[in-house]
Formats: sequence, C-alpha cells, structure tokens
Amino acid sequence: MAYDRNNVFARILRGEIPCKKVYEDEHVLAFHDINPQTPTHILAIPKGEYASADDFSQKASDAEIAAMMRALGRIAREQGVAETGYRILANTGPAAHQEVAHFHIHLFGGRDLGGMLPRR
Ligand code: 5GP
Repeated sequence: MAYDRNNVFARILRGEIPCKKVYEDEHVLAFHDINPQTPTHILAIPKGEYASADDFSQKASDAEIAAMMRALGRIAREQGVAETGYRILANTGPAAHQEVAHFHIHLFGGRDLGGMLPRR
C-alpha cells in the first residue's frame, strides 16, 4: 500500500484536523478514536509515514518500533485499563478492512471485550 500524504491521520499529524490527544513523544501520537467502539478507544500512530503494520514492520527503525510498544503500555496505564485488561489491534490491508492508510494501533478497554473474533 503506497503512502498517501492526504490520509486523515497525516492531516492530524500536521495539525490540519483536530484530535483529542492523550499522549505524544518523539515518535508517537495517540488520541481518542472519533467513533469509539468501547468506553476507552485510543488510536496510537507513528509520526513517520507508514501505510500499514506491514510497512511499519519493514521500514521503521528499532527506536520507532520500541516507542510504539512503550507508548501503548503507558497509555493503557494512564487510561486506567491496565489492571482490568485491554486489547490492542492493528487492521492491516483489505482483509482486515483497514480504513485509514497510516499505520495505527487501536487500544480498546473499559468493558469486557468478549472473544477475539466472531466465530464463523
Ligand atoms: P481502521 O478500520 O483503519 O483500523 O480504523 C480507522 C479508525 O479511525 C476508525 O476507528 C475511525 O473511527 C477512526 N477515525 C477515522 N477518522 C478519524 C478522525 O478524523 N479522527 C479520529 N480521532 N479518528 C478517526
């Protein structure tokens, strides 16, 4: 998936669209999802231009990858869901219905999240 600089998260990173920020460091920005699926629904994105988890895993530096995982743990603790439990999820490509082509990890929590995927 080629990187499109006009995707909505690129625009949030440039400050062209507002977001409800919960965390920021050198490599990561995190904010509330505009259409939350759970009481806590945060999106964590790298500041670098990566279209998907596949792209990020191939091209991001070790520092960027470490920063993302450290940020997610810290956000979960700050949001008060680390004790009760939470789920992190990255939709990647068409089969996963990835809507925004800038790598992002969802952090869901605040209620029982049920099984991982509906059974077919
Ligand atoms: P995906 O399906 O790509 O994994 O998820 C994209 C997510 O981005 C969705 O949960 C959607 O609600 C969220 N989203 C889309 N546009 C915006 C926006 O402008 N601001 C915020 N905060 N979230 C957005």
